Parts: sequence; structure tokens; C-alpha cells
Amino acid sequence: MNVLVINAGSSSLKYQLLNPATGALLAKGLCERIGIDGKFTYKPQLEGKEAIKAADVAMPTHNEAIAAVLNALVDEKNGVIGSMKEIDAVGHRVVHGGEKFAKSVVITDEVMAAIEECNPLAPLHNPANIIGIKACQQLMPGVPMVAVFDTAFHQTMPPVAYTYAIPYEYYENDKVRRYGFHGTSHKYVASRAADMLGKPIESLKLISCHLGNGSSVTAVDGGKSVETSMGFTPLAGLPMGTRAGDIDAGILEYLMNKYGYSIGEMLSILNKKSGMEGISGVSSDFRDLEEGAEKGSERCALAREKFAYEVKKLIGAYAAVMGGVDAIIFTAGVGENDALERMQIASGLEYMGVKMDEDANNVRGEERVISATDSKVKVLLIPTNEELMIAMDTASLVG
Ligand code: AMP
Repeated sequence: MNVLVINAGSSSLKYQLLNPATGALLAKGLCERIGIDGKFTYKPQLEGKEAIKAADVAMPTHNEAIAAVLNALVDEKNGVIGSMKEIDAVGHRVVHGGEKFAKSVVITDEVMAAIEECNPLAPLHNPANIIGIKACQQLMPGVPMVAVFDTAFHQTMPPVAYTYAIPYEYYENDKVRRYGFHGTSHKYVASRAADMLGKPIESLKLISCHLGNGSSVTAVDGGKSVETSMGFTPLAGLPMGTRAGDIDAGILEYLMNKYGYSIGEMLSILNKKSGMEGISGVSSDFRDLEEGAEKGSERCALAREKFAYEVKKLIGAYAAVMGGVDAIIFTAGVGENDALERMQIASGLEYMGVKMDEDANNVRGEERVISATDSKVKVLLIPTNEELMIAMDTASLVG
């Protein structure tokens, strides 16, 4: 069975064709500048097939983008499948499922309407996801489609975790609550962790650290998300590449009054100019921060230290929430690649039974145990694979 995984944004669209049973990737790529000047990238994973890099392809709408993807996949010379019949289903990444979706679902007219109802919760993302779904429905009539939500995994959080201490009617009337994001990634690595540890996920207390340009930490108790650091929006929790994470809401009023910022300007600062970039004044990228710190920039060093400190605080908090922890997982760009940052996060956690193996930790992007053999709490490096998780969910729903 082959599943086409689509992650549609407003002007871009990422795709992968996968076999969820074997995990084999057949092709992947990207359509960029949709509605502008259209750039098409195609990377077939089969030997002898040629890639296409940022080629000019007219894409006035997402329909032409999807058509370009399908043409490339079935191309006589460089395609990876014989015909469209070999695409058995399509899995769509959808950012927000609100409280309506606690699981992935087969897309029907009712489901589409319910996803649209969630648009106000993710006004930048959900409408683009819907456009991607509609384009696929037009070009692939009869092919089953599944929606996989970034928020769904966290719907198991109890009220005590998701309720904000503001007037309760904002939850009842306006659905203001913690939702959490990166759910597909947290779910995938938690399930891999159970496999690596050789234990049923139901018996495990895991802390999953998805540390990338966007970052979140999730407490997974018995396979279920019970607490997570992102909130009503992905601006909450850890300081990130350019996002502030949790700050005192009073700061907004103070700065807006002092500098005459509109709420839009203030939020743009918190989303795009804060986090690692804000502290360092140099970059949002951890590699640049490391280089800056090595050259003596105290602010680059402080940014990295601040990040490690906040991740460590969450690990302590989530161990308290679950009454213990069996394994800590590192994943995503920073979690998979930055050995120094992982070490900085884990150092000082010896009291709770975390003992790192420095040699094992000195690795990038490889699934492995990076704690010492006698570490009570295992530390795992697990490269995330959201597309495979989407393909697996899709396959399990469409049979
Ligand atoms: P993601 O959002 O998961 O794609 O993560 C992207 C971020 O991962 C980049 O902005 C970098 O900060 C970080 N990253 C990627 N590769 C490395 C590396 N080799 N060493 C340190 N950080 C890295």
C-alpha cells in the first residue's frame, strides 16, 4: 500500500509518497511560491531516477501544485509508480482539530465542515490545509483521504492540564484552553521509545522533547499525552527559534503602552523576533549560536543556556506530574543533532536517575540510547518522522 502524505501551507506544499507497512519512502518534495511564480522540487528515492530542484512550474493554485506532484510520481522516466492507481490513500496534515478531533479521521463532507469550524483557532494554517484537501479531492476522485491533526494526540489531557485560570466562560463559549501541538511527532517518538525499550507503551512514563525551530515537551503516561508545553497557540511554552514561549502577559501592556505597538506588532515581535534570536541578537539557529558562543558572544551562550534551562524545568515538572519518568526522548532539529545542548539539558538531572553516556550522546540523527547502561531513567535519541506517522494512521483507517 502507498500513501501520499500532504502538508499544505498557504503558498507551499510538502509531499511524500510512502509505504507505511515497510516505512519505505518512494519520493518526497516540495511545491513553493504557489500563487506567485511556482517552484517545484521532486526527490525520487529509487536508484536511477533523477531529481528536480526548484524548477519553474506554473502553480496559480494548489490544484496545479498537486497536479505537478502526481505527474512527477507517475512520470515514465523518473516516476516511482506506474500509475495513479498505485496511490491507495492520501494523508493530510491538519494543524488544528480543536476539541472535535481526538484521533485521525477519514475525510467526509461532515469532517470537512468540522475542520472548517476549527479555522478560527488556527487562522493561518487550517484554511491552507483545507485548500490542499480540496485540491486532492478534485484531482484524485475516489481515493480515500484522511486528516491527521497536530492537536489530536493531546486531547487526552485532563481538565486540570488544559484549563487556563481565566473566567471559565472563555473556555465554555470561546474554547480557550490548552490544545498543544506537534502531536504527531510526540506520538511517533513515544511509540518508537516503547519499541526500543521492549515494553508496552501502556506501562511507560515518557517525557518527549521535540526541540526544533518550534519546540514543545510532552508528558506521555501510558501512551497518552497528559501535559504539554504549547498552549492555545504554538507561541506558548519553551523559548524557541524566534518565539518567546511563556512570558508574563503584563509585559505586553507595558511595551505596547511605552512604544505604541498595536497588538499585531506586539505579537509579531513575540513570534518572529524573540526566543533564541531575541536573546542572542544573532540567529535563531542553534548552530550559529554555538559558533557565536565559541567566539565569545555572551548573549549566544545565554540563549543556549536559557533554552536548556527551560527544557530541564519542564522535565522536572512533568516527572512530578506523572509521579516518575522511565525515559526522556530527544527529537527534531536540535534534539536530534545538538549533542552539546542535550548534555546541557540532562546535566543536573542525576538526582532523578539520569546518567548520560557521553560517547553514545556524541551522535547526530541516529535512533539510539544515549544514557549510561546503569541510568535508571533511559535517555533516547529518536529522529522524528511525522510523515510516516501520518501514513501509518492513514493506512490503519482505510485498511
Ligand atoms: P526543525 O524545526 O526540527 O527542522 O529544527 C530546525 C533547527 O534545528 C535549526 O534551526 C537548528 O537550530 C537546529 N539544527 C539543525 N541541525 C543542527 C545541527 N547539526 N546542530 C545543531 N542544531 C541543529
